[in-house]
Amino acid sequence: MFDIDYIIGDYLASVNGQPPIRWSEAREVWDEGVLHVSDLNACPRQVALRLRGFPAAPRPPQEARKFVLANFQHELLYRAFDWYGILIDKEIPVPMPDGWTGTADMVIDEFHDKSSVDGNTVNVGDSKNPVAGAKKYLADYPKPEDILQVSVYSAFLPEIYRELEGQTEGQVFYLPLGGASRGLSTRFPLVPKAEVMERMRDLEAVRDDIPDPLPLKVFITNRREYTRKDGTTTVSGNLYHGTDWRCSYCRYECPNRKAADEPVFLGKTGTKGLSELTSAGHRLSAEIGEFLLRDAVG
Ligand code: SF4
Repeated sequence: MFDIDYIIGDYLASVNGQPPIRWSEAREVWDEGVLHVSDLNACPRQVALRLRGFPAAPRPPQEARKFVLANFQHELLYRAFDWYGILIDKEIPVPMPDGWTGTADMVIDEFHDKSSVDGNTVNVGDSKNPVAGAKKYLADYPKPEDILQVSVYSAFLPEIYRELEGQTEGQVFYLPLGGASRGLSTRFPLVPKAEVMERMRDLEAVRDDIPDPLPLKVFITNRREYTRKDGTTTVSGNLYHGTDWRCSYCRYECPNRKAADEPVFLGKTGTKGLSELTSAGHRLSAEIGEFLLRDAVG
């Protein structure tokens, strides 16, 4: 059975629980002066500020620890896949256009579930380390940003891996950091190369202009989902108006930083509809309605 938890478990048993992972295998150092594939999912303004070398707040101390643990999990997965016989290469510098850089986690010779119809099993795989225990874990993955990242790698890697030519699918393996959550293998159709190139061109524009801050939006915390007897679902939680999640991680001086720290409370939603609406909640009732509609569909 192709199950990353079992593969890693069997591999660890084969080395008596002591994988020979060396820190020299840690990933490349981040270069702030070029565009990274992962920037395609970042706030364009934040990318523009970084490229121009604007002063940034120091990284929170827990980030370094998370980085080391994530590196270890990446190496563990590579070792396990190598032992299983499907790892072709890992940590591969992708031949990107000028001004861009990207490192693909791996090229592997098997899909986690089954072979593709044309018999081509070589594909680009990525490994992510989400926070463990999210209730919607299975439903939320693969994330669109992860699909895009693998699609970019898959668009350019055929230059050095001919076997990837014409490949239309990719994989992401989610190994939660900490906790006892199971790992998750996902498989998906790639974003076409033409669309990948368009997204890259759009982001390149930040070299010329600093984009505006991201628009503030309605979001929900303490979200809980209930299923009624008739099968319909209802959502409860606290509604706020504030920033995109990316602002919470942003280290640059920007009007949105404050909004990220202090979102405006709008009211609550639950089985009986909206309640405790504040004046801001009343003012933004149309946006709240749109958000709840999107949330229900998504
Ligand atoms: S605070 Fe938010 S909008 Fe402003 S640069 Fe950072 S991520 Fe972008």
